[in-house]
Amino acid sequence: MSEVLGLKEKLGRNVFKHSEHRHINIKEGREKDPQLKKAVLVCPAGLYSVNDNGEVELTIDGCLECGTCRLACGPELLEWNYPDGGAGVQFRFG
Ligand code: SF4
Repeated sequence: MSEVLGLKEKLGRNVFKHSEHRHINIKEGREKDPQLKKAVLVCPAGLYSVNDNGEVELTIDGCLECGTCRLACGPELLEWNYPDGGAGVQFRFG
């Protein structure tokens, strides 16, 4: 019988190699932009959060490189690139 895994367990099987540069950055001064809160709602890995000051923060570890936040928020709010070659996510399907 095969093991049934939840979303967190499946994501936890992926491997992330750090890049020298963060491949996604919130544009300076836009951290409180209400449109940026879309990223909190749509990121499938839950990497965006709102801090006590009402600023949106991004934890880059665990990024699936899906581009959903890029589509939701656009280039006015996010500087979005793929990670450097050899870095980023390696999917481990469970
Ligand atoms: S690319 Fe996908 S996984 Fe990475 S931060 Fe954006 S929405 Fe989240």
